[in-house]
Amino acid sequence: MCLVRGVQLTPIRQQVLVLIWDSHKAVKAYDLLDRIKPQQNAAKPATIYRALDFLIEQGLIHRAGSLNAFIGCSCSDHQHELLLLICKHCNEVEERATPDVMQALSQEFNQAGFTAHSKAIEAHGICGKCSDFHSIS
Ligand SMILES: [Zn+2]
Ligand SMILES: [Zn+2]
Repeated sequence: MCLVRGVQLTPIRQQVLVLIWDSHKAVKAYDLLDRIKPQQNAAKPATIYRALDFLIEQGLIHRAGSLNAFIGCSCSDHQHELLLLICKHCNEVEERATPDVMQALSQEFNQAGFTAHSKAIEAHGICGKCSDFHSIS
């Protein structure tokens, strides 16, 4: 995709992307640094943040603001609004495409005369897998 857009996926950017995609959990910048350091000794926090900025700009990852952490985007071929379901038990983050909800939200913003710069909703709770687990035990 980066080729098509004519932007460069440098080794460090690629590495950060792979690490974020490694799990469905949200990843913090300092965890990324810890894991990249052994391979790229010169990596600094600023290097990681620049790579993260690039990946966000390209829509390849999302920032979960309330966690101050990052997740991979599964539908990065288009700009989209965001509903993140964050499980406090297993830390997994599920991204849902919810055009109807977001459309309703946009209407509310319009009525309030409010210009939203980010349209991301983050919900904290217990995911389906974890609540199944709890009902068994
Ligand atoms: Zn996404
Ligand atoms: Zn869970």
